[in-house]
Amino acid sequence: MSGVLVIAEQRRGELRAVSLEVVSAAQGLRRGADEVSVAIIGAAPESIAGALKLVGVDEIITVKVPLAEFDPDTFESAVGALIAQRHPDVVLVAHSVDSFGYAAALAARHGFGFATDVFKVQRIDGELLATRGGYGQKVNVEVEFPGRSTVLLAIRGNVFKPPEQPASPRLSAFEAPATVSRSTAREFIEAGAGDDVDMAGAEFILTIGRGIGEEAKVAQFRELADAVGATLGCSRPIADAGWLPKSRQVGQSGKTASACKLYIAMGVSGAIQHLAGMKHVTTIVAVNSDAEASIFGVAKYGIVGDIFEIAEELRRHF
Ligand SMILES: Cc1cc2nc3c(=O)[nH]c(=O)nc-3n(C[C@H](O)[C@H](O)[C@H](O)COP(=O)(O)OP(=O)(O)OC[C@H]3O[C@@H](n4cnc5c(N)ncnc54)[C@H](O)[C@@H]3O)c2cc1C
Repeated sequence: MSGVLVIAEQRRGELRAVSLEVVSAAQGLRRGADEVSVAIIGAAPESIAGALKLVGVDEIITVKVPLAEFDPDTFESAVGALIAQRHPDVVLVAHSVDSFGYAAALAARHGFGFATDVFKVQRIDGELLATRGGYGQKVNVEVEFPGRSTVLLAIRGNVFKPPEQPASPRLSAFEAPATVSRSTAREFIEAGAGDDVDMAGAEFILTIGRGIGEEAKVAQFRELADAVGATLGCSRPIADAGWLPKSRQVGQSGKTASACKLYIAMGVSGAIQHLAGMKHVTTIVAVNSDAEASIFGVAKYGIVGDIFEIAEELRRHF
């Protein structure tokens, strides 16, 4: 058993960017003549293949399935059949809402080694070692897979730099077995529909966290953001509570503040998943009443104080 199989993700005919990050994660796992094969599963996979013609991809495998939307049973069956035919020793998928639907079941059914949310993967003396967070991301856990001939890993997004150089990998097709699905896709609703904010493109972001306490306080910070010319962002609890749309969430499972130059975090503790979306910003200003809050570890300027008082003071100047 050898080689790395990457399962790329697509949404409505568009390759998901995280798939290229997974291709990048695969590069350090090659042994000798090992190849990296990338499978793309969908109703018209050949139309997406072009986006995968990059350095680091040796082969693109198109897997045609008769469904327009993602379906866990179809994916579990198709990926399982592909692994049975190809015998890769490592299979990489994105740690995403799609893989949540089938990867664990697939690994359990076939006895594969398995780890999710992996942000580092390497071979040490030929043995695979995956690193993931543990205890709510407070510690890093190294996972070994003794005795497993196939290991399936779900790779965290926004960690590996996607390849950019074009290349000409081989193309092949794989026929997925017919599958009876237990679910039906009724409607596709785009997350954050109705709020077309571009968090990735925003240069100045003012983000609010759970420190605001209640939904009624959102308006005060929205008004402040407008006054200072910032795009209003939020931490996950605010989006999960529905106080702001998901499209404004910054972090690992939200948006990355890619173009941001100034980031003001108000009432945000600085959990590792939030930092994943903003810690690279050059100028971070944090306001938090807890002097020990982790956000101060990445902030250039820190204010230990009450966000409402600071917000009012700021508003007086704009
Ligand atoms: C797989 C996974 C993915 C995740 N993805 C994301 C993600 O994309 N984005 C994200 O943000 N989180 C994400 N999380 C959640 C993350 O772990 C934290 O739970 C979250 O970031 C905490 O949000 P917060 O800082 O707003 O809230 P808290 O951690 O509760 O912090 C609130 C802060 O406000 C301060 N505060 C309270 N009152 C005041 C006041 N009056 N004045 C000043 N400061 C005050 C407190 O001192 C505290 O530090 C994810 C978690 C998991 C497991």
